[in-house]
Parts: sequence; C-alpha cells; structure tokens
Amino acid sequence: MKNIVLFGPPGAGKGTQADLLKIKYDLIHISTGDVFRFNIKNETELGILAKSYMDNGALVPDQVTIDMLKAEVNNNPEAKGFIFDGFPRTESQAVSLDEFLTQKNTSISGMVALEVPENLLVERLLNRGKTSGRSDDQDESKIRNRFNEYETKTAILKDYYQKQHKYFGVDGVGSIEEITAKLEEVIDTL
Ligand code: AMP
Repeated sequence: MKNIVLFGPPGAGKGTQADLLKIKYDLIHISTGDVFRFNIKNETELGILAKSYMDNGALVPDQVTIDMLKAEVNNNPEAKGFIFDGFPRTESQAVSLDEFLTQKNTSISGMVALEVPENLLVERLLNRGKTSGRSDDQDESKIRNRFNEYETKTAILKDYYQKQHKYFGVDGVGSIEEITAKLEEVIDTL
C-alpha cells in the first residue's frame, strides 16, 4: 500500500495536487477539511461541532478528528492506499494514525511537504476566498489564526516524520504542472 501524507500550510496547494495524484496512483484522497465541510453543509452533529472551531480558524479537537479519519479509512476497505490531506495536524493525530495503520498491517510511506513562503500563501488564500465560498479564506485574521495553529501545533510533524526518515520537502512555488511533476518524482520512490 502507498499511504502518503500530503503536508503543508494552508494555501500550499494540497487539495489541488491531491486531486491529480489520486488519479495517477489510484489512491483514495481523504481531506479532513472537506469531510468537515460536508458535515457542516448537511448539519450533522459532527458538522455542528466542527463549525465552531473552523469558523475561527482553530483546529477541531483531536479525538473527534481521529475518530472521523478512522471511519473514512474503514469505509474504503478495497483501497490501494490513501492520500491524507490536512491530517495529521498534531503529534497526537500522527501517533494515532501510526498505531491505526500498524493494526491494519500497513504504514505511512512518506510525508511529502509542499514548501511555500507565507506572503504567497496569504495571497493564494485571499484569492481562493473570492470563489471558494469558504469564510475562513475571506478574513485575514482567520487566515493568520490558521497559520498560528500551523506553526504551534502542526509544523513539528516535520520532525516527527524526519525521525522516521519519511519526510520529503518539495518546492511548492511554480505552476500546478511543475509542482505535480516534482511530487511525482518523490512519490515514485516510495
Ligand atoms: P483545510 O480544508 O485542511 O484547510 O481545513 C479547514 C479547517 O478544518 C481547519 O482550519 C480546521 O478547523 C479543520 N481541520 C481540518 N483538518 C483538521 C485536522 N486534522 N485536525 C483538526 N482540525 C482540522
């Protein structure tokens, strides 16, 4: 199984690239942000809970997110592998993911990280906010809060996967096609 963690700060291009990579490698793409947004739209219990955090650009609590992620994986028993997009975002999520995959006799093949400077990220997010309808992309203070969550809770995951020799950084500046090609170079070796 190929299990990829597609990593990077908000606006790095994870969703765009995951949509292309899932086709090329025949993997199931799980975006925790998309699953939360689906639940918000459908006003489920999970959606109502997640909304209060997402509206502020804060992370949804770990246990809720981990349980949701496990359910998504379990719903795809025939998968050849997964692209995890937006998960894990904390060390506790990363540990839970490792334990969960070990129970399934599989593991993370690698974390592939899109590296993009912050000024470009803000510009991309505000641009996306004009068309995505995402309120967390339209307000610079919410964007700043998401970066703050990323810096304080998520960025350390680079170390977590580096210790396992599974971290691969890719320059996330350039055209979509150029970046896809760089990601594929890495993923082909995993
Ligand atoms: P994204 O679509 O990945 O930018 O995520 C949008 C929002 O969903 C985040 O700002 C969080 O509020 C929430 N979210 C998505 N994934 C996670 C996660 N792994 N842990 C906690 N919150 C998450």
